[in-house]
Amino acid sequence: MDMLTNPFDDDKLREECGVFGIWGADNAASFVALGLHALQHRGQEAAGITSFDGKHFHSHRAMGHVAGNFDRDETMGKLAGHSAIGHVRYSTTGESGLRNIQPLFAELAESGFAVAHNGNISNAMKLRRTLNRRGSIFQSTSDTEVIIHLVATSGFSTTLDRLTDALKQVEGAYSLVVLTDDGLIACRDPLGIRPLVMGKLGEATIFASETVALDVIGASFLRDVDPGELILVNDGGIRSFRPFEKLAPRPCIFEHVYFSRPDSIAEGKSVYEVRKNIGAELSREAPVEADYVVPVPDSGVPAAIGFSQASGIPFELGIIRSHYVGRTFIQPSQEVRHLGVKLKHNANSALVDGKSIVLIDDSIVRGTTSVKIVQMMRDAGAREVHMRIASPPTRHSCFYGVDTPERAKLLAAQMNVEQMRDYINADSLAFISIEGLYRALGEDRDDAQPQRCDACFTGDYPTSLTDVTEKDRGTPLSLVASR
Ligand code: SF4
Repeated sequence: MDMLTNPFDDDKLREECGVFGIWGADNAASFVALGLHALQHRGQEAAGITSFDGKHFHSHRAMGHVAGNFDRDETMGKLAGHSAIGHVRYSTTGESGLRNIQPLFAELAESGFAVAHNGNISNAMKLRRTLNRRGSIFQSTSDTEVIIHLVATSGFSTTLDRLTDALKQVEGAYSLVVLTDDGLIACRDPLGIRPLVMGKLGEATIFASETVALDVIGASFLRDVDPGELILVNDGGIRSFRPFEKLAPRPCIFEHVYFSRPDSIAEGKSVYEVRKNIGAELSREAPVEADYVVPVPDSGVPAAIGFSQASGIPFELGIIRSHYVGRTFIQPSQEVRHLGVKLKHNANSALVDGKSIVLIDDSIVRGTTSVKIVQMMRDAGAREVHMRIASPPTRHSCFYGVDTPERAKLLAAQMNVEQMRDYINADSLAFISIEGLYRALGEDRDDAQPQRCDACFTGDYPTSLTDVTEKDRGTPLSLVASR
C-alpha cells in the first residue's frame, strides 16, 4: 500500500478529474490554482493550468498535487493572462502519464485550443481509428485528444461551430472547459453526466466541477451549466447555446454518495444533507441494535450522522484518523509499509471495547478495506460489528470518467450480500436500496426512465458504449487511457 494515498480510500471508486476555468481576471492562473486545490479530491496524481494573455498561451503541467506544483512565484509568473483553465486528474504514471496531463493544447488553423475534460468518451477508440486512417497523428493516449482532432478536421469555420460539430460525434460523458483565442467555452454533455457549475467574481466568469471551487476564491454561485448547454464567454459577453438534441438528463448519482465534497451544492442540493438523508434512509431500511454508530473516516461521516439521528443510536468516533501522516512520510521498509492502515487510522479501543457498533461506509468496491476495518474493530474488543453501506451494491463498471476496477474485481458482482457479510466477517451487512438512495435525494426512481445515471448499481447505462462490447462490458476501456 502506498502511503501517498489514504489507505481507507484505496478501495473506492475514484473520480478521475476536476476542471476549472476563468475569464476576465488579472492573474487568472492564480484563481485556477486555488480552484484546483479545492477540487484536489477529484484527482490527486497530476495537475495542469493553461493561460491566455491575449496573444500567447502558457502552460504548466506536472505530476503530483496542486500545492507543490502551482505555489511558486516562478511557475505562476509564467502563466500570464486574464483567462485560464485547469485540470486535476488521476493518471497513469511515467512518460505516457505526462503526455496525458491536461489541459491538452493544440495550435489549430484559426486559433489556439486548450481543453480540460471531466468524463469519458465512450466511442473514443472507434473515432480514433477513423481519425488515424485519415492521417491524424495523436500525441497522447487520452480520449480527450479525439475532441481536438475532430475540431481540427471539422468543415465548419468558427471554433464554436467546429467544437459543436466535434461533440455531436462523441458519446459518453463530458464536462469541458476550453480556452481559445476567442474566449472561454464551457460545455456539458446532453445527459449532464458529470457536473459543471458557473460562478461570478466581480467581472470574471468562472466554471468549475463543484461549487467548493467557487467558495475558495470568494466567487458567487450563479447556476449549474445545463446538460447539453454550451456557453461562450469573451469580450462580447456571455452567450448560451443549446446545439444538441434535448434529452432527459442523467447526472451521476455517485457524485452525491462519494465523489463531490460534502460542502458542495450539486443540482441545487447540499451534498452533506443528501448524505445525511442517505444515512437516515439506511437506518429505516436496515435497522440494527447497537451501542454506537461509527463512521469510516472521512467519507462515511455525514451518512453516519444521519443514521445516528434517525435511529437514536449515539454517534461516536470509533476510528481516529491521524492528520500527521503526510505525503512526505517515507516508509523505511516493506514490513512497516504494511502497517499503513494503523498509521493513518486507529481504533478508539477505549470506546469500542465490549460494545456493539454499527459501522457506516459509503461503498464497498473490492471489499479489501472493509475486511481490514471490521478486523480493526474486532481487535479493539468490539462485541458485535454491523456494517451499513450508504450506496447499493456496486455491481458494474463505470465508463463515464470514474476509475472502476474491472467487473471481476467488484465484490458485489461476485457475491450476494450474505456471502459478502461472511467475506468481510461482519455480524450483519446491509446496503441502501436504489429506491432509498433516490428517496434521500427527494426523488422517486422512475424505473422506465431513471432521472440519473445509476449504472454502477443497476447496469442501466444511459448511453451506448460503442467501445465496449457486451462480452467485456465489465472491463474499463483499456486502449484509451483515463485522463
Ligand atoms: S456508472 Fe456510477 S459512477 Fe459512473 S457516472 Fe454512472 S452513477 Fe456515476
